Amino acid sequence: MDNSGLTNGSKHPKIAVLTSGGDAQGMNAVVRAVVRTAIHEGAVPYGVHEGWRGAVEGGDLIREMHWSDVSGILNLGGTTIGTARCAEFRERSGRRQAVKNLVQLGIDRIIAIGGDGTLTGADALRAEWPTLVDELLEAGEIDSETAATHHTAHLAGVVGSIDNDLVGSDMTVGADSALHRILEAIDAISSTAASHQRTFVMEVMGRNCGYLALMSAMAGGCDEVFIPEMPPDDGWQDALCQKVRAGRAAGRRDSIIVVAEGAKDRHGQAIHATDIRDVLADTLGEDVRVTALGHVQRGGTPSAYDRWMSTLLGYSAALDVLRADETHESHILATKHNRVTAIPMMEAVANTRAIASHLADGNYERAVASRGASYSSMINSFATLSSPVHLPQTPSPALGRAPRVAILHAGGLAPGMNTAARAAVRLGEDRGFTMLGVEGGFPGLIEGNIRTLTWADVDDWAGSGGAELGTRRTAPSIDQYYTLSKVLETNEIDAVLILGGFAGYEAAWNIVKERGRYPAFNIPFICVPASIDNNLPGSELSIGADTALNNITEVLDRIKQSASASRRCFVAETMGRRCGYLALMGGISSGAEQVYLSETGITLEQLSEEAKRMVSSFQGGRNLYLVVRNEEASPYYTTDLMTKVFAAEGDGIFDVRPAILGHMQQGGNPSPFDRTLALQLTAAAIDELARQFSTGKVKSSYVGMEEGETRIYPITHMDEQIDMDTRLPYDPWWAQLTEVLYTVADPGYAKHLTDFTLES
Ligand code: ADP
Repeated sequence: MDNSGLTNGSKHPKIAVLTSGGDAQGMNAVVRAVVRTAIHEGAVPYGVHEGWRGAVEGGDLIREMHWSDVSGILNLGGTTIGTARCAEFRERSGRRQAVKNLVQLGIDRIIAIGGDGTLTGADALRAEWPTLVDELLEAGEIDSETAATHHTAHLAGVVGSIDNDLVGSDMTVGADSALHRILEAIDAISSTAASHQRTFVMEVMGRNCGYLALMSAMAGGCDEVFIPEMPPDDGWQDALCQKVRAGRAAGRRDSIIVVAEGAKDRHGQAIHATDIRDVLADTLGEDVRVTALGHVQRGGTPSAYDRWMSTLLGYSAALDVLRADETHESHILATKHNRVTAIPMMEAVANTRAIASHLADGNYERAVASRGASYSSMINSFATLSSPVHLPQTPSPALGRAPRVAILHAGGLAPGMNTAARAAVRLGEDRGFTMLGVEGGFPGLIEGNIRTLTWADVDDWAGSGGAELGTRRTAPSIDQYYTLSKVLETNEIDAVLILGGFAGYEAAWNIVKERGRYPAFNIPFICVPASIDNNLPGSELSIGADTALNNITEVLDRIKQSASASRRCFVAETMGRRCGYLALMGGISSGAEQVYLSETGITLEQLSEEAKRMVSSFQGGRNLYLVVRNEEASPYYTTDLMTKVFAAEGDGIFDVRPAILGHMQQGGNPSPFDRTLALQLTAAAIDELARQFSTGKVKSSYVGMEEGETRIYPITHMDEQIDMDTRLPYDPWWAQLTEVLYTVADPGYAKHLTDFTLES
């Protein structure tokens, strides 16, 4: 094995991994990736069980970990290597004992997964390590060779915290899964609340960080939220009652208020769920119920994001410490725009801790600013979406009347289409637009199936799957353009907002070319990416892809479970057309052994090698081999054919079954991520329309989310970002993850795929 990237001159460096503090879903994925990446790099991984306590106590609590020790843990919540609080480790004497235990085993590289307490401990350990080693040598507790070889330590941290409270990181391990749990509860409660016209107050975790409360209130379409960073103004009790009353008057049947456990008023007085209940019950005379979710939020299986991103974090952390040189500082491996970034450990911890002091000092603006720009824009969007204020419709200077905006869906169904349509209606109304819903996509528009949509019409669309307006793959043909232009004219449509997939983008691209011939087409057509395939230009992710990925992960978990009783290979086929996103990410999230993507194709040679690997691994005791492919990975080597090839080569040692995942991938309620993405992208589209209406400039465009920002591109340049024939965006960001998959999935790590290049 090649050790060229390793430092410290050690041929087989030893690397320890531990989980400490509060547990979080996804910690197991980090541990699994650390262990397997270490093995792949020629290092020896050790598991420190029960957090820092294991390091202090040593003995059997620090054990070498093998490839198979981390098999089958990707889908488990909590942490299989255990976590504990350890008072001794807070003291120098405890850390001295930990250094002794570790260096005696030859370990001088450590990856700590936990919250800010765990990472503070990690940094203290790193800082004191050389002097502690000297002390141990002087006391004769370690020999001089051990002291010389392990005189410095390299540490890296990964933040496992459902609160998502680390400054400098987009998401911490476990936060997305916690949001899943909360949204499941909100969705369940809103149906019973609506039946009885009841009000619920839901308490969620977050002592200093309102992330979970804010995102779940937004994604759940709730009435109000109380978070530590934004204490309500004095008199909040009256304002709340008025808002709930106004919502009911506007047609809401249920009211849900979300409160973070650390919510306070402007005087530092805690606002508990029961306080809110009492205010509402007394003033409105309503039946108000409180639900405190508690530890449910920490539980359950990790979401797809908490599996693939945690895998990437563990992989990156292992490389960070294995390739560290003498000048190496301790890093936290954090997430930034779907990528991993290394940030200085103590700076990040100090910035995170500073938020608690900002809150204690009443410096709320600073606390919100520390959370990043998107946090405050989310707070504003929530206020707009949840407030049923009917402004008088404002005439646009260019049009001389209130602009009329038609919303339609195009392409395949994407969970989150309803969320986006709801946001468009409410944010559009807030800008003074008249919002129109087109039923049945472009064919519906041509037939004139158009109705006005108001605030109340879309009230229960925030978290519902499917598409209330319906979606069609059909784009208008050239001979329908005349009718289309007449419909646009007679309905006085000033803009068309297309919330959909490639079919919608292509339709807009073709329609704008005919502006010269049909003056009615001289209006903005704005596309918002909604497609589970995740193959749209100008956006790293499209609405619906995360939900589909979670659906795939859930089914693959079940398939794996079903196979555990027999020796079986599954060839699972995902959707995505020619885009391999779902197959690759589904493969990483479910712990598949192999993925085949259209971007890299399938060859007979690969299948033959795969079959040989299967035979030897089943002969070596394996029960299950999971292969994931995307539906158009190859026109020749179909799922059926692959199944037959593997079955023939398996020759009875194992059996092979195809699993075509089909339309379940498009079903279900949108995931929390897809709901917030829908909101952000739609808000960008509505802003763009407002700009165009105020300036009178017409520009058809598509919006996207790239590097954490919403971007807008002219539709006429679409072909610069996507191959219009294959419908594949150029240079997808996720392509590099194939390397990660092979590192953690295949002990032999033969790089089965050739370079990730677009097949023409
Ligand atoms: P979290 O890591 O989730 O913030 P804790 O704050 O309980 O959880 O910290 C977990 C463990 O990390 C503690 O039990 C202790 O062993 C260690 N730790 C916490 N703070 C420090 C510190 N200031 N110095 C050294 N070790 C610490």
